[in-house]
Amino acid sequence: MAEAALFDTFARAPLRFERGEGVWLVTEGGERYLDFGSGVAVNSLGHAHPHLVEALKAQAEKVWHTSNLYEVPGQETLSRRLVGKSFADKVFFTNSGAEALECAIKTARRYQYVKGHPERFHIVTFEGAFHGRTLATIAAGGQAKYLEGFGPKVEGFDQVPFGDLDALNAVITEKTAAILIEPIQGEGGIRPVPKEFLAALRKICDDKGLLLVFDEVQTGVGRTGKLFAYEWSGVTPDIMALAKGIGGGFPLGACLATADAASGMTAGTHGTTYGGNPLAMAVGNAVLDVILADGFLENVRDVSLIFRQGLAGLKDRFPDVIEEIRGEGLLLGIKAKVPAGDLVAAMRGEHMLGVPAGDNVVRLLPPLTVTVEEAREGLARLEKAAEKLSSAELKKSA
Ligand SMILES: *Cc1c(COP(=O)(O)O)cnc(C)c1O
Repeated sequence: MAEAALFDTFARAPLRFERGEGVWLVTEGGERYLDFGSGVAVNSLGHAHPHLVEALKAQAEKVWHTSNLYEVPGQETLSRRLVGKSFADKVFFTNSGAEALECAIKTARRYQYVKGHPERFHIVTFEGAFHGRTLATIAAGGQAKYLEGFGPKVEGFDQVPFGDLDALNAVITEKTAAILIEPIQGEGGIRPVPKEFLAALRKICDDKGLLLVFDEVQTGVGRTGKLFAYEWSGVTPDIMALAKGIGGGFPLGACLATADAASGMTAGTHGTTYGGNPLAMAVGNAVLDVILADGFLENVRDVSLIFRQGLAGLKDRFPDVIEEIRGEGLLLGIKAKVPAGDLVAAMRGEHMLGVPAGDNVVRLLPPLTVTVEEAREGLARLEKAAEKLSSAELKKSA
């Protein structure tokens, strides 16, 4: 039921979680739920990870916030580590994904501006994209349901169908500054972009002086079994937005760029009050301590393989419930034959959490720390949920 003193923007499930441990969430009533949603790909190390708890507590006892009027040592460390593991030379820290995208969009526009092309401010995006809920990012995402009633759409975003190179080439003009894309669409339904398509985007950007911007807010920081999803394609962007998993549950985002792409972002052009504060940096660095440890990402890939094989088995057993398994690493989606909302509800009936997405998909995003045993537990619960929805099974029990 909607709480009268809150905006009615969310349709919440009637679950009240009091605490969590690893892959489990525990309600006020003491019921345990297997969390394969991770707060929408946020709790990358699960709940109450001891290293994160320790890092947050230790920082809380020193200093929480100083503003960006002063040097923040944690920002220096975290930016150096991100740069060392990516294509980028420069990092700007934010509190959220949408803000990381705002920074990416502003960085791309400023780049063209300082290169003598103020007319180049248009950014090409793709149908099914999700880039956040600010005025600019709903324009970038281009979804009518998120734009309706919020006044004129922010100018300068041109959307083309997913995977359509001809439409892309047709929409690029002398006003185009950049191409913005998620390497795997998350909210859009775990739709991977073929690597040939990403390579084609890279070439178009190089040929025409455009910047390639990847939104890795959902795919980044180990979610796909590589630190960044772009590593699977071998195609590197000029600018990249991160958030979600990088904070492990603490609000943290980042915009990464090459030195050239960031060349317009000079002193005073952009800012943030909270972005990169000492608490956030302590947690972000602690997340990387774990994810960059030897063998961690390899383990994500190994568990993913086993989990996926199990999901493929469920698809064969319940073809009237499951149409397709999609995704990479632990960014997985079940394209359902039944309404995705029904599958999420049936899973919840088995005390398992998943996240609905577009294209009638249920996302399975367990913490990256999930064990093989826990993945098997997830499969067992999914099997029971599918059984309840399968018409063959329904007939048998009738
Ligand atoms: C979640 C998400 C965003 C927005 O992040 P917020 O932290 O909600 O602002 C942007 N892009 C992608 C791909 C996302 O998954």
